[in-house]
Amino acid sequence: MRNLRLQPRCAMAVYAHPDDADVAAGGVLAQWASEGCAVHVVVVCDGSKGSHGTQTDAGSLRDVRRSELVLAAKVLGVESVITLDRPDGEVDNDVALRGELVGLIRRLRPDVVVGHDPTATFFGGVYVNHRDHRETGWAMLDAVAPAAAMPLYFPERGAAHQVGRLLLSGTHEPDVVIDVSRTIDVKATAVVTHASQLGDDTEAIREVVYGRAEQSGRPIGVAYGEAFRSVELTF
Ligand SMILES: [Zn+2]
Repeated sequence: MRNLRLQPRCAMAVYAHPDDADVAAGGVLAQWASEGCAVHVVVVCDGSKGSHGTQTDAGSLRDVRRSELVLAAKVLGVESVITLDRPDGEVDNDVALRGELVGLIRRLRPDVVVGHDPTATFFGGVYVNHRDHRETGWAMLDAVAPAAAMPLYFPERGAAHQVGRLLLSGTHEPDVVIDVSRTIDVKATAVVTHASQLGDDTEAIREVVYGRAEQSGRPIGVAYGEAFRSVELTF
């Protein structure tokens, strides 16, 4: 495991649901933002089905999740939040989604793109990775490498741009950890904002956030970390 230090000028996080970026990479995104990096969070789904309850109406859940997302983004200090509004459960790695992502990559021109590792399906015999995470992860990978970097793909979507590095979260093959000790409190505050997903027991949620980050930081000897599979892209 390698201790990775990055200071990107511009970063783009592409996640399926309104809470995913904060849970997976909130510490890193907050840290980069505080160092002057323009951080853009792209949320592909509208969050309208993210409930185990039976009383919840999809329209009002979508609105609640949108306002939680906006609040959390303010906490992290990101430059912009872009929502693509696919209904939960209906996202596909299709040409339309890849085209939208390529357009965003070419407009924002990030050095680093952060997102789901779509190859991770089962976790510890107790969790199946959400289909939206997998489809969003594949679409993001395909949009970054090679589509955005090659001008003949989606020529109507702007000038080609080569992303320098991918950082994939929720992975079974992490190879880097980024020290987030300075921003772990910010991350915890952003995560608890998503009360519709995680519940109102703020202290318990914070404990989980700190516990996971402590575990991720241990291999590189820091108090709190976030782990990723890193892919350096060159051509
Ligand atoms: Zn999710």
